[in-house]
Amino acid sequence: MIVFDQVAKRYPGGYTALAGVSFEIRHGELVVLSGHSGAGKSTLLKLIPVIERPTAGSVSINGQDVSRMPARAIPYLRRNLGLVLQESRLLFDRNVFDNVMLPLVITGHPPRDGARRVAAALERVGLAGRERELPAGLSGGEQQRVAIARAIVNRPSILIADEPTAHLDPDYAHEIAELFRSFNSAGVTVVISTHDATLFAASRPRRLVLHKGLLVEGGEA
Ligand code: ADP
Ligand code: ADP
Repeated sequence: MIVFDQVAKRYPGGYTALAGVSFEIRHGELVVLSGHSGAGKSTLLKLIPVIERPTAGSVSINGQDVSRMPARAIPYLRRNLGLVLQESRLLFDRNVFDNVMLPLVITGHPPRDGARRVAAALERVGLAGRERELPAGLSGGEQQRVAIARAIVNRPSILIADEPTAHLDPDYAHEIAELFRSFNSAGVTVVISTHDATLFAASRPRRLVLHKGLLVEGGEA
């Protein structure tokens, strides 16, 4: 359902972040993308929601080539994707409810059902009833859970997370890893990057490994 075919990404200025990357992710897989800092993990993940576009090759989702998708179609694509990216910061001047509700507000979801969905999403990440709290009063692990609740509130079929356990204490990191495993068990396709692949080893994920922009494990020729 997610197919990378000979994908290259060169940033303006000439730096090649990815070269010749080909792989397929099937519906319902749990994929862990690992590699050293600067290996190209964030770049690879950003090509899926078309935050970046490839310089060569193609990225398709459910048979649709998204790498050439017109800008106006991208919001519709993203409705079916849950994103927990490095730049997905919480709004610190808004409470937990407003943060998680945000994607539903953007898509014009009816408010009353939205509130129910927010409650369900918070329940799902272990933060039931915490709607009125402000992010600044939460621990780092709890803030990450709010970001995950916001990513799943639209009930996406694909969940993408870029180093969601970075900066967390090991106990919290394990809880977050377990949370992604549980979404995957519920049928969601999950693609996570990490520089600590051992964290997800118990889930027996499909492994993709990047080294200096090349896929050195898990790819297809
Ligand atoms: P990782 O997530 O594995 O740390 P990245 O995808 O963030 O790797 O980065 C891969 C390479 O691309 C790095 O050398 C990085 O400096 C470079 N890079 C990332 N984003 C940009 C950008 N917007 N412009 C130029 N170079 C970038
Ligand atoms: P409801 O159907 O009332 O929304 P669920 O218990 O089915 O409640 O789900 C609670 C929340 O967990 C959902 O709103 C959604 O955020 C998330 N969730 C559960 N299952 C899935 C799924 N298959 N895909 C994406 N998100 C899911």
